[in-house]
Amino acid sequence: MRILVQKFGGTSVANLECMKQVREKVRRALRDGYKPVVVLSARSGETNRLLALADEWSTDPDPAEVDALIATGEQVSVALFSMLLKDSGIKARSMTGFRVPITTSDAFGRARIMDIDASRLRKELETHDVIVVAGFRGVTPEGRITTLGRGGSDTSAVALAAALGSVECEIYTDVDGVYTTDPNLCSTARKLDRVSYDEMLEMASMGAKVLQIRSVEFAKKYKVPVHVRSTFTDTPGTMVTQEDCEMEAVLVSGIAYDKDQARVTLRSVPDRPGVSAAIFGPLSQQGILVDMIVQNPSRDGVTDMTFTVPRRDLKKTLALMEEIRARTGAQEVLHDTQVAKVSAIGVGMRNHSGVAAKAFAALHAENINILMISTSEIKITCLIEEKYTELAVRTLHDAFGLNHDLGNA
Ligand code: ADP
Ligand code: ASP
Ligand code: MG
Repeated sequence: MRILVQKFGGTSVANLECMKQVREKVRRALRDGYKPVVVLSARSGETNRLLALADEWSTDPDPAEVDALIATGEQVSVALFSMLLKDSGIKARSMTGFRVPITTSDAFGRARIMDIDASRLRKELETHDVIVVAGFRGVTPEGRITTLGRGGSDTSAVALAAALGSVECEIYTDVDGVYTTDPNLCSTARKLDRVSYDEMLEMASMGAKVLQIRSVEFAKKYKVPVHVRSTFTDTPGTMVTQEDCEMEAVLVSGIAYDKDQARVTLRSVPDRPGVSAAIFGPLSQQGILVDMIVQNPSRDGVTDMTFTVPRRDLKKTLALMEEIRARTGAQEVLHDTQVAKVSAIGVGMRNHSGVAAKAFAALHAENINILMISTSEIKITCLIEEKYTELAVRTLHDAFGLNHDLGNA
């Protein structure tokens, strides 16, 4: 049995017309001799609508109930799509994370997949043409519904592809591949034929929401080739796959940005062993992802500690910092939400120097002030004022020769 996992995002299943386009992609897989396992997201806007309802009903919505609520979006999609397939004579049935089952941790709202038992799904494929699985959702060992974090249907799909031994995982969306930067922000962005798992990991973690970061981690771990392509055209998309020599020849392959950032500073905190642990320990216990961290040189036994967190976690972070300020005798807690991260990413950086200098010079030429810097082997990230995000993305895109009408730098 040749299985192909095909995932369709929110805009691809937004309405009946869109779902008919999805049906064509499924029909093609059937014609090519595959047994398609179709993973669907909620219809576009639905998850946001449900989250807004939770906020309307409760001042502090219970995370487990929020998951029970927002998981319904995907259930609607799979039921409707299965009906559509059946009307066209295709033997289909829908399944949720509970029925498969897709077992996850109990970290509601950001649950991690622990196990997929693919035997029931395989059995159903013996008597059906297509199985339609609700993305984004899983179930705890105790049977409670969980969700995998925003964009989590990508992860459901890649994890299912790994569990079922799918030849590849097709991710259908509203753009026809992974671009050098967000094509909706930069009209000169160029489609990449291939991108390595490591580059895609950095792009996803630095804000390129075309794939959820966990899906790329799964793909890399289980060596699942991921094909990002459009629901609305037939052009080949981008293969996310293992690195090769050709990829290394390119210095920078993409620019990502993330506006969901806030900067927090703890001023004049005593500079003694254990202070960093006291600050970052409680943040990690609350599941808050700290990204950039800068500690100033100490003066008179005190230092300033500055870091960034996702903007949605700012309220919780400030409450924790206020406790730590009082406990350590630090002077004050400052914060700023008008900031954004821009990143240049490329495996070619491993063997080249001067990439950071080039990025800084390009931002300087546009008079964009850099507030914080962080680097990894294949990435340079600058925190800047949010109002310069679009300009910074275009400037870096241009500086590294990524425009579609030019060669690469
Ligand atoms: P879906 O609902 O299909 O999962 P998403 O909205 O989650 O789709 O992801 C697709 C969007 O990702 C695109 O519309 C695009 O604006 C955005 N995006 C950001 N960075 C990139 C990039 N480098 N290449 C392609 N798309 C990108
Ligand atoms: N519906 C979920 C979201 O909007 C999951 C997904 O679309 O991948 O985040
Ligand atoms: Mg998505």
